Amino acid sequence: MLLKDKVALITGSASGIGRAIANKFAQQGAIVIIADLNEEEANKAANEIIAEGGKAMGLAMNVVSESEVDKGFAKVIATYGHVDILVSNAGVQHIDPIDKLKFDDWKKLLAIHLDGAFLTTRAALRSMYASKRGGSIIYMGSVHSKEASALKAPYVTAKHGLIGLCKVVAKEGAEHNVRANVICPGYVKTPLVEKQIPEQAKELGMSEQDVIKKVMLKETVDGEFTTTADVADVALFFASFPTNALTGQSLIVSHGWFMQ
Ligand code: NAD
Repeated sequence: MLLKDKVALITGSASGIGRAIANKFAQQGAIVIIADLNEEEANKAANEIIAEGGKAMGLAMNVVSESEVDKGFAKVIATYGHVDILVSNAGVQHIDPIDKLKFDDWKKLLAIHLDGAFLTTRAALRSMYASKRGGSIIYMGSVHSKEASALKAPYVTAKHGLIGLCKVVAKEGAEHNVRANVICPGYVKTPLVEKQIPEQAKELGMSEQDVIKKVMLKETVDGEFTTTADVADVALFFASFPTNALTGQSLIVSHGWFMQ
């Protein structure tokens, strides 16, 4: 029980990677807040965790809305008293070459990843500072926080930006015993990736099988997808690490796609 009674708010956790992190944290004793766009989906995920013996609450939250984020955190604090862990995970992808990219699509993607990370970080820090319990903030970066791919300009830009935000939080949060780290996964087969396989195939003029083998997994050491469970294990490591010795870092979990 590495996270017994810790209150963990995870954005975008009705699906994919966030959902796996919520399950893992609940198995380790945390009270998990499933914050996602759709209230019904968030409640459904929370109820499934409760049915398995965990503690969870669904919360409707669009991370780009200052009022929804602040109200959502206020509800969690009114219910549980504080927030100990934030996983800023909500995200989307957009495939387009820069010369065809609409300004609105650029702004939308940056808002979800960067405005969302800022707004949830600010709300979490206010709670962590006031409670004097410290805390852990984890950003869902990507190999695209370190490396570029064609057709993903706003995503690569936003994911690089999260590393900057994380380092500032690590510096400002230290005196309050708040640490911040970034997880950088390679390709994980979630709805986000399932959607882009045909989109990339169309843009690149290849079969979907070739997109997987020759684009997505080409640089891995073994041609394997990273799994949601792999990412959840890294999240648990960051969330449960007890001191500021591990802060301001980014860890790549990608079957060796990118090594540093
Ligand atoms: P997913 O599509 O399965 O889940 C994303 C979740 O985010 C969904 O539940 C969605 O409703 C939610 N979401 C989207 N916009 C939101 C908003 N404005 N407010 C609140 N919630 C919102 O995708 P996933 O693959 O699990 O992605 C989760 C995170 O992991 C993203 O930040 C993504 O960039 C990152 N990531 C994914 C991969 C991968 O290969 N799947 C690799 C590296 C990083």
